Amino acid sequence: MADSSQDTKPGGVLALAGGVGGAKLALGLSRVLAPEDLTVVVNTGDDEIFYGLHVSPDIDTVTYSLAGLANPETGWGFAGDTFNALETLGTLGADTWFGLGDHDLALHIRRSDMLRSGMTLSEVTLELSNRMGVRHPIVPMSDQRVSTVIESSDGEMPFQEYFVHRRSEPDVLGLRFDGVKLAKPAPVFAASIQNASAIVFCPSNPFLSVDPILAIPGTKVGIADSGVPRVIVSPIIGGQAIKGPAARIFETFANKPPSALAVAQHYAGLATHFVMDTVDEASRSEVEALGYTVLVTETLMTSEEHKIALAKAVCEMVGVPV
Ligand code: GDP
Ligand code: CA
Repeated sequence: MADSSQDTKPGGVLALAGGVGGAKLALGLSRVLAPEDLTVVVNTGDDEIFYGLHVSPDIDTVTYSLAGLANPETGWGFAGDTFNALETLGTLGADTWFGLGDHDLALHIRRSDMLRSGMTLSEVTLELSNRMGVRHPIVPMSDQRVSTVIESSDGEMPFQEYFVHRRSEPDVLGLRFDGVKLAKPAPVFAASIQNASAIVFCPSNPFLSVDPILAIPGTKVGIADSGVPRVIVSPIIGGQAIKGPAARIFETFANKPPSALAVAQHYAGLATHFVMDTVDEASRSEVEALGYTVLVTETLMTSEEHKIALAKAVCEMVGVPV
């Protein structure tokens, strides 16, 4: 395993993120690293077509966060959004369980139009995030369509059907990433694996947000063989997820109690460093026994100051100057 003293590559930090948890640390990183020193690669397994429009929920969560436009109560969606179009869609007979606001819909209309004109999702994401004021590159994991499918106690269903419509209530028994075998990492993602000086796994759902990224052919082995420090920030604190079904998925799918240690086991061999919350300090030596260099610190990010503090700690841990 590499340690930070071997860090000689010039390419900045590659951060892997899903939605709400990932966006929190990505925001912190964007406050301590210059745009040329950070690339945020985002899960697109959650992408779905609604009303003929291409919706990329995790990209939008990260984009709104970095742009300072996210709804502070939910962590996703556009702050102060209105829902007039959705209401009218309902009146016109459409299903409206996926809560797209008016601002959201404008974004999805524009994204879909640009994709139809032949642009790649990478190109569209870069342009739209720039137009929203984001300077750091936000990159989809792939320009090809990959769709997370949940094999649940209630049968098989698309990701958003499980996550939003069914409120993550069915037990997750299996997962599939349709299309992934033919998908390629987005060009900037592939380059970033080659060039990054450190790789940060933001505290996102390991199964639903990070595993789809790692399922793209070549990415997992590229990351494992990158020779640079690779740090996991645990999304499980005190045996619980802050939000969402990660803890339950450890039980039903991975067959183990949710814990920071279980997260460390999940990524064992892939990463070199591990950040766990102070409440989980008791399992420090077990995590170290898996080969990780461990940092124990406050990992609950309830304010921008917390996000920045954790981002700084993560960068310092892997020898990235901030
Ligand atoms: P989603 O795509 O919106 O579900 O978001 P992610 O997959 O990026 O994040 C979900 C995970 O983020 C959950 O497992 C949460 O436990 C974790 N999470 C959310 N907020 C925090 C936080 O402040 N600190 C840490 N360490 N984890 C968090
Ligand atoms: Ca997501």
